[in-house]
This record gives sequence, structure tokens and C-alpha cells, in this order.
Amino acid sequence: MSAPRPGPLPDVPPPPAPDPLPDPLRDPWVAPMRQALGEAARAPATGDVPVGAVVLSADGTVLGTGHNEREATGDPTAHAEVLALRAAARALQEEASRRGSPRTESGGDPGRDGGGRRTGEWRLTGCTLVVTLEPCTMCAGALVLSRVDRVVYGARDAKAGAAGSLWDVVRDRRLNHRPEVITGVLEAECAALLTTFFRDR
Ligand SMILES: [Zn+2]
Repeated sequence: MSAPRPGPLPDVPPPPAPDPLPDPLRDPWVAPMRQALGEAARAPATGDVPVGAVVLSADGTVLGTGHNEREATGDPTAHAEVLALRAAARALQEEASRRGSPRTESGGDPGRDGGGRRTGEWRLTGCTLVVTLEPCTMCAGALVLSRVDRVVYGARDAKAGAAGSLWDVVRDRRLNHRPEVITGVLEAECAALLTTFFRDR
């Protein structure tokens, strides 16, 4: 006996979209990425491309933020990442001078001069930079030099990205510091901000 032929499908509404699956790699960085998106949204006021960045300490404290300010300041190097790294280093330096002691416990800190006085707190060891767009070569270089532990970005930059797309400066095995890279956090929102900006220009 053959099975009955199926009739036309009843007109039922589609089931609700399931909640997105948990993503233990990216979920912790969604909130900081929202903050970076907020920074990025400030850039177009001065005609700057909307890219924003946030630097977090190991415990998640925001140490520095930045958005593109090339047009605002006439500085070709005023990318969001560079400005955020500078702000973070400044914050650490100010904290260290307030406490009057080095940030690290290691006695042989090369950031101190012969007399033990603090000479600079430029290392961002333990920190994470979260940025809406994949860093360019300059910013990738700055990230390596700043010794951040981790780089988190939203949208890929197939034309100029130096953290996995066109180059992979941050994970180049020839360099002695290689931050961890996490990609694609709020990717669609980060990309949409840029698409809208260039479409409306
Ligand atoms: Zn850059």
C-alpha cells in the first residue's frame, strides 16, 4: 500500500527565530564593542570615517578610548587604535605616578631608571584593544609595540586589514610579541556603520 500524497502545506506562521547560540569566544567582548561603536559614531561629526576603539585592562576597566580624528586634527596617524593606545598608556602612567610605585611587581622593571624612579609606563601588557574595524598596518604595528595581550575587532577590512585579511602583522611569527586575535564581534553592526557613512557622503 502506497503512502498518501502530501497535500498543500497549511498556511502556518514560521516558528520564531531561535536565540543565537552562545559564543564563549565573542560574547565577553560584545559590551566593549558596543562602547567602541559609540566612539565610532562620534567620528562623522568632523567628517572622519567611523572607526572606534576601546582599551581595557585585564580586569575589564576602560583605560582609553579613541575614534578616527584624521580630518579633525589634520594628523594622518590619528587612527582610533593609536589614540586609544595613547590614552590607555597615559592613564596607566598617571595611575603609577599617583601610587608612586611601578605597576608591575617585578623588581627589574626596565621602565625604571638606575635610581628606581619610574621613567615611563608605555607597556599595555594584560590589556585588550577592541576596535570596530580590522586594524591597518600602522595600527597593527602599534598594537605589537604596545604589547597588548589581545586584539578584538568587528568588521574585516579586505582591502587594508593587517590582522588576518591582507596581512597578519599581529601574528607574524618573526615578531617577538603576538597578541591573540578575536574577529567578527558585532561584525554586521560595525560594517553597517561604515557602509552608511560612505553611502551618505
Ligand atoms: Zn589604522
